[in-house]
Amino acid sequence: MHAQPKASHFVDGRYVEDTAGQEITCIFPATGAAIATVYSATPAIIERALASAARAQREWASFAPVERGRVLRRAAGIIRERNEELSQLETLDTGKPIQETRVADATSGAEALEYFGGLAATLTGETIPLGGDFAYTLREPLGVCVGIGAWNYPTQIACWKAAPALACGNAMVFKPSETTPLCALKLAEIFVEAGAPAGLFNVVQGYGDVGAALATHPRTDKVSLTGSVPTGRKVYAAAAEGIRHVTMELGGKSPLIIFEDADIENAVSAAINANFYSTGQICSNGTRVFVHKSIEEQFIARIAERSTKAAIGDPREDTTQIGPLISRAQHEKVLDYIEIGKSEGARLVFGGGIPQGHEGKGFYVEPTLFSGVTDDMRIAREEIFGPVLSVLTFETEDEVLARANATDFGLAAGVFTKDLTRAHRMMAALEAGTCWINTYNLTPVEMPFGGVKRSGVGRENARAAIEHYSQLKSVYVAMGDVEAPF
Ligand code: NDP
Repeated sequence: MHAQPKASHFVDGRYVEDTAGQEITCIFPATGAAIATVYSATPAIIERALASAARAQREWASFAPVERGRVLRRAAGIIRERNEELSQLETLDTGKPIQETRVADATSGAEALEYFGGLAATLTGETIPLGGDFAYTLREPLGVCVGIGAWNYPTQIACWKAAPALACGNAMVFKPSETTPLCALKLAEIFVEAGAPAGLFNVVQGYGDVGAALATHPRTDKVSLTGSVPTGRKVYAAAAEGIRHVTMELGGKSPLIIFEDADIENAVSAAINANFYSTGQICSNGTRVFVHKSIEEQFIARIAERSTKAAIGDPREDTTQIGPLISRAQHEKVLDYIEIGKSEGARLVFGGGIPQGHEGKGFYVEPTLFSGVTDDMRIAREEIFGPVLSVLTFETEDEVLARANATDFGLAAGVFTKDLTRAHRMMAALEAGTCWINTYNLTPVEMPFGGVKRSGVGRENARAAIEHYSQLKSVYVAMGDVEAPF
């Protein structure tokens, strides 16, 4: 097995190597085997990437918007044609099951490019009548945008950032997480094949220091980060120093609330998706599952029955439903949290360990459910980013609402009920940026996605993303004489 890219970085339209940077070994999480080596970007590579982005941005901004859209849609078409190859690479890069990567990664990236490719030619300013005089606005790109990605959805994250940025006429330098360096390079190749100017979308590898160098560089006009809250705090502060625009897509500890009148089977499906899909490594996961006391037993019995049948195994196999976690560090972190849950007095209902046959081989953890979890436990307050579901029980709507909101995070929330007015009352009162009624974790490109409170700033997807990748210039037009006091 081998996934070695042609070189570490993709700058100014081609692969570029510089082995002077720190070595980064790319590990296949299912076995722990090294599958590729790349090198962290040196200051010279960072400089070249940003300079080529600045040059390409000027050229790109002079394209007719409809032509920019065509390039993005062409890139989407290439991604769709190459979905199988890209999905296999994503599976090697992340360890996520091929049955997931085939439908949720490159395809989601293609959707973003189709959507924003379609919008590109519609991005206009407005005319403002002023009674004789008038004003108009021009919607202009920001310039060079830096994208910094997390490791859970490397292709999707790169596309969710690049598609609106490029549609608005910006260029991008993207730094993937050092644990998943491979997929964004393919996207860079595809943009060139689709007709984007060399340098429009560059990829540079590296650890946090490379992200920090990009975020503070004088050429950088905007920073869009997907990552944890502590990293977000640092990157936001670094960007503020240069008064740069930011989008912060950060972590969460989201509530999934299941009322007594819910369709139990649908609620169980949603809780499974919200905790075990991608082995629990999804920022918007509903990891605090509040279940009405009267249906707790039934809910837990059913979710246990279904989850213990999940096919855990080699993510390259079509039948595998649960793969490993991303890295040794994440594996240790999740196993530690399971121990913390036990020591805090939560009841381990199923899972809790390394699945049989995977001891010492890859970074596997069983889907795990704790019941009897209370609000003060660390497993109910801290983001674990693994397949660990906490069941908390409640009795009244007011009570569950207050408890659901009692967190610094505010990324997502879900409610299961057949009572329409209650569902909408909850939607109005939940402190979260992305909410669902009677489903969970669906994030179509047409719907804005992002967090409130410490979970982030700005929105990705939908027309809302345009506001974060463009700025308005106001032009006042005088039609008469200029009056002056003397
Ligand atoms: P991290 O916050 O550790 O890293 C995110 C990215 O930032 C990585 O590329 C990292 O590089 C880089 N980075 C680290 N330090 C700095 C710095 N000082 N300046 C600039 N860049 C830096 O997150 P993870 O990769 O561990 O991803 C998991 C987190 O991401 C979770 O908290 C999850 O909730 C969140 N997430 C949020 C999503 C959302 O849309 N809201 C979606 C997906 C994940 P390196 O990896 O090399 O250290």
